[in-house]
Amino acid sequence: MIYVLEDEASIRKLIVYTLENAQIEAVGFESAKPFWSALRERLPDAVLLDIMLPEEDGFEVLKKLRAASATAKIPVMILSAKGTEFDKVMGLDLGADDYLPKPFGLMELTARARSLLRRADANTASRSDEFTVGGLYVSVPRRQAIAYGEPAALTYKEFEILIYLLKNRGIVLTREQIMSGVWGMDYDGESRTVDVHIRTLRQKLGRCEDIIETVRGVGYRIS
Ligand code: CA
Repeated sequence: MIYVLEDEASIRKLIVYTLENAQIEAVGFESAKPFWSALRERLPDAVLLDIMLPEEDGFEVLKKLRAASATAKIPVMILSAKGTEFDKVMGLDLGADDYLPKPFGLMELTARARSLLRRADANTASRSDEFTVGGLYVSVPRRQAIAYGEPAALTYKEFEILIYLLKNRGIVLTREQIMSGVWGMDYDGESRTVDVHIRTLRQKLGRCEDIIETVRGVGYRIS
């Protein structure tokens, strides 16, 4: 999924249309505000970013993306009508992965978008011990969970439960499975232990508490 932030409707639509024709999922945004809202719901694999935007410009957006751990590694390609050396240098300095001056050919756009997605795949492969769900970023080696930029002070077991749910993302786990997966013991009827830990875990995740779903009568899941 590629997010396209471009205020000029005709260009935005053309980009989205071109990418979708090439079987690349894309969503367009005309300004930074809806872009940030969407990003909180779902992280894209890559971002195409215009520089001249109303309110928040592309440089500001890029700075923020790079500053937050959850979005720091999302590949970004800058699109700039100005095509000036300044935009290019500034963009790459701020951490853009590629730069495409406008006007651009549609074949070139598609080729560059694909290369951006390959970069995203490579990142994912090297980040198997990192997870990002909505506004939550988790690093296993650093034993760090960050919810919308705020580190969550999790206990050892809370962190283990979170990792266990993340590694089984999309699967509903029963309390028994969580017990044996996290505590390494057969379930002994103390399912409340799991519930209590999930409750405190959610509290500590603050705005990210909703990522852990309760599946009534079955268990818990992170979608
Ligand atoms: Ca523009």
